[in-house]
Amino acid sequence: MNDILPEETPLWQYLEQQVRLLLGSYGYSEIRLPLVEQTELFSRGIGEVTDIVEKEMYSFPDRNGDSLSLRPEGTAGCVRAVCQHSLATVVQKLWYSGPMFRYERPQKGRQRQFHQVGVEAFGIESADIDAELILLSARLWKNLGIDGQLELQLNTIGSAETRTAYRAALVEYLRDFEGVLDEDSVRRLDTNPLRILDSKNRSTQRLLDNAPALLDYLDTSSAEHFQQLQELLRAVGLDFTLNQRLVRGLDYYNRTVFEWVTDALGAQGTVCAGGRYDSLVQQLGGKATPAAGFAMGMERLVLLLQGLGDAPVTANPADVYFVAAGEGAQKLAFQIAEQLRDQLPERQLLVHCGGGSFKSQMKKADKSGASLAVILGDQEVSDGTAGLKKMRHADAQGRQQTLLQSELAGQICELLKQEG
Ligand code: ATP
Ligand code: MG
Repeated sequence: MNDILPEETPLWQYLEQQVRLLLGSYGYSEIRLPLVEQTELFSRGIGEVTDIVEKEMYSFPDRNGDSLSLRPEGTAGCVRAVCQHSLATVVQKLWYSGPMFRYERPQKGRQRQFHQVGVEAFGIESADIDAELILLSARLWKNLGIDGQLELQLNTIGSAETRTAYRAALVEYLRDFEGVLDEDSVRRLDTNPLRILDSKNRSTQRLLDNAPALLDYLDTSSAEHFQQLQELLRAVGLDFTLNQRLVRGLDYYNRTVFEWVTDALGAQGTVCAGGRYDSLVQQLGGKATPAAGFAMGMERLVLLLQGLGDAPVTANPADVYFVAAGEGAQKLAFQIAEQLRDQLPERQLLVHCGGGSFKSQMKKADKSGASLAVILGDQEVSDGTAGLKKMRHADAQGRQQTLLQSELAGQICELLKQEG
């Protein structure tokens, strides 16, 4: 579980702000959900025989003996909230963000506490909402400048009946090769055979080349739905790759599944993933409600942003640094700075704290990156003046001036305005 350090937070804040703006522009509202839910919500929602529930959850008994879990993903909790507050009586377009927890082997792009932004749309069955979800994610990549690094992979996994029929055919085919399948896939033959399709094992992948195809088992209405989605995406010129092996690891999906993948992050190539989950609301106790959504991994997005030639943001440097030598000067510095904060609430003003010589304070002023330094000492306190110094001015002569304290605020405003 990682700390996100001050030098990294500006990039996180930038990313979060871009996400917020974009989702707002598409009419999605934020919902804030608890980090902890009943364990049963996840085992019922995500599925007992998924990787997440089988081996990745942080579960613990509550004081009253209930089993609780740190959320490994957001959809189940969001659906719980939608049911509990009867939100799905109208179309709901929601998003949330925050930490998720999975006991996995930590590596680049894979943490035990990681952050997702999830986007969920409830109450629309037609493929236009699938298209909207995909388009808004595509626009986010464009706004962030990482669209060139991401590819959209798309598939449909049809209805429950499709998957039951296909599962049987796939298992029948793979049984003959049980001796050569990798260990995980053998286990999945009995528990979750569709997951074998996204096995990373080379020889298993080769076996799958001749396996029955899910598309041949697809029900007509899912096929039409998928066709509509593709037509909508083509109509706006969004490129995608059909990937029949894409099944997603969570039980709740049906019909559309998609992933945004990159080859810039090694094995952790999926940056954003989602799909349709039309039966989950009912399964978790609500009224039957079609739904679709996706989640993006913020750590992986941050890695992509860091990989851009010019980092899009760095920490803001200060605007004004108050250097104050002596007790009287320190008080005066606070008085002037507090006045100035009323006038310039957006500006970053630093009052030197902790004493030290004039010289060492000036060094810190320099290091802060501030445009202006206000210089106050005993002399200034007694004669009502203040020194004002332009820190990044080529002309050494024009750098420093002495002003009346009453003129200071006006002059600072003026100079900062000039600097922009
Ligand atoms: P992966 O195949 O990489 O394990 P997943 O299928 O388990 O991903 P989802 O549950 O679909 O992932 O979560 C959506 C996104 O959240 C992923 O595409 C990824 O960007 C991010 N994500 C998932 N698990 C982690 C993790 N442990 N650390 C960092 N990001 C993660
Ligand atoms: Mg995973």
